[in-house]
Amino acid sequence: MQKTIFVVDDSITNLSVAEQTLENYYNVITMTSAIRMFVFLEKIIPDLILMDVAMPEMSGFDAMIKLKSNTLFSDIPVIFLTALADSYNEAYGIELGAVDFIMKPFSEAVLLHRIRHHLSIDDLIKERTVKLEEAISASSAKSDYLSNMSHEMRTPLNAIIGMTTVGKNANDINEKNRALGVIGNASTHLLGVINNVLDMAKIEAKKFELSPIEFSFDSMLQKVLSIINYRIDEKKQTLTIVSDSKMPNFIIADEQRLIQVLTNLLSNATKFTPEYGSISLEVALESETEEDCLLRIDVVDNGIGISKEQQSSLFESFVQAESKISRDYGGSGLGLTISKCIVELMDGGIHIESELGKGTRISILVKAGRSEKKLLSLLSTRLNLDALRILVVDDSEETRSQFHDVLSQLNIKFDLAPSSYDAFRYIGEKGAYDMYFIGWRVSEIDGVELADRLTTGKETPAPVVIMYSASQWVMREDEASANKIAKALQKPFFSTEIVECINDCLCKAQGVDDTREDTLNFAGKKLLLVEDQEINREILIALLESTCIDIDCAEDGEVALNMVSQTPDKYDIIFMDVKMPRMDGLEATRHIRALPSVASLSLPIIAMTANVFAEDIRECLNAGMDDHLGKPLEVDRIHQILNKYLS
Ligand code: ADP
Repeated sequence: MQKTIFVVDDSITNLSVAEQTLENYYNVITMTSAIRMFVFLEKIIPDLILMDVAMPEMSGFDAMIKLKSNTLFSDIPVIFLTALADSYNEAYGIELGAVDFIMKPFSEAVLLHRIRHHLSIDDLIKERTVKLEEAISASSAKSDYLSNMSHEMRTPLNAIIGMTTVGKNANDINEKNRALGVIGNASTHLLGVINNVLDMAKIEAKKFELSPIEFSFDSMLQKVLSIINYRIDEKKQTLTIVSDSKMPNFIIADEQRLIQVLTNLLSNATKFTPEYGSISLEVALESETEEDCLLRIDVVDNGIGISKEQQSSLFESFVQAESKISRDYGGSGLGLTISKCIVELMDGGIHIESELGKGTRISILVKAGRSEKKLLSLLSTRLNLDALRILVVDDSEETRSQFHDVLSQLNIKFDLAPSSYDAFRYIGEKGAYDMYFIGWRVSEIDGVELADRLTTGKETPAPVVIMYSASQWVMREDEASANKIAKALQKPFFSTEIVECINDCLCKAQGVDDTREDTLNFAGKKLLLVEDQEINREILIALLESTCIDIDCAEDGEVALNMVSQTPDKYDIIFMDVKMPRMDGLEATRHIRALPSVASLSLPIIAMTANVFAEDIRECLNAGMDDHLGKPLEVDRIHQILNKYLS
């Protein structure tokens, strides 16, 4: 854009000479007095002022003093162009703040050169100032962030330290257990904060990666809800789930990261929505191709909302809608930034619609790979499905249609009855069924009574599952067992929950052992635990006590290598810490794999490390390890690994 220069001189001749010299290069505005200049300044701020000194009414020097006293104009570079060519005036002009002092008559080339020179210096100063301001505001956001983080970390730590003392001093076992419960919750919260900080560091270093796997979308949502439900219950809020029937059962994506995004959005929704508020989770298939599908997930709440100005900065790192928010609600201000990064890596995006005081809708789009896996794969292979029949009794068309969909996919024979009258008619015509799903309120009779009629008098009654909505009923365990109800399923439920119900109830009814329990006994198996920290060895031994696995310990890689090379086929599995003195886990693994015995080649070696990023896992696998357990250790994951490698 062309720069604007004001030329101020009481001589018309001088003005026109200056104008002719400059007009090819700049937008020149001439004025015959300093007073007129101030009138122009009300409307336009020029990039530079070329000003005479000796002028009637107001001299250039006086004008300069007035310019400098007003912060709106004080940064405009001023060059004096004057015939008052003595060193006193020159020094005075410069002292007043002029950037240059040029004598009349002037050479065109010199004038142009000086103007260009000062304008480029001015540009440079402006650019630097903007950068400096950005740096100052980023640094102040970071220091706010540090103070938030410190608060976010100290709060759970405080609970952990305080409750440890309370627990130690408590005589009553219930009081001890309560303290342990608080310690457990605070530790999980602290872990979440630390994970966020690490994710943020990864994002800033541009090293954030996804690890896609094939998983059931509904089971993933179930995991999210199991994390979030207690917070919703605590605030007595209602959560509605709306799922498009076209949603694929299985997808290929990074399950953990999707859980992280949805947990963040839902926990914000509960956090920023008052008690008794409503939250809904809406999932839909937006579009699909042969290879992938685009999923849209919306989290909607009727909470405090976010103003338009605040919405624009929410995805910047370390920013919360208002600093007051962090004081009132806690939080690090990192969740949305990380969520945005994750959904963008999934070729999607995130969008906020919100009105202050009314509520918020946050929508994400994510692209996932299509999977060939069917719902059937979740059904226990131990079940005998031959001639098996299920009766579903519910007056809701929607529920019957969901069962139609699921049971057809499972290849299980079924009938759908809209009323108890139809249920008895089916039983009369076709005989008793092997399992019943019954709505709590079917038209003429309540579900529990129907269950009672179906089960009384039978020596081995078929399992009955009661389906209810939260507003109707809260299932009490004693009530359920008194009425011989095998399970209660709260509406709305996921397709995977129906499959889980069938697995659980029919495994019991058919006398098939529940898969998990019988495989978690590893008596006779030998595990070598390589870990330099005594406390970590102690924790793992305690966590595995119930599995009856026999554990030997080595306190570093070198000791482990000696043990394995002496008796290579003694161990069935190794849990190997990575960072250890003397010889680390990676090196020990490489040595073990290089041993001459066949056993040491096939021996499963599982990395056990607090480094949990994709590249850390890759490093372990490249060193010859088979799998990875992240610290802090999770019991379910350890069991999963043992099942995978020892069963
Ligand atoms: P935090 O850990 O602080 O919650 P987030 O990045 O997840 O960090 O959210 C940033 C800020 O966005 C929150 O502090 C809050 O001000 C605002 N926010 C996010 N979700 C909601 C919502 N559903 N309703 C109102 N404000 C929200």
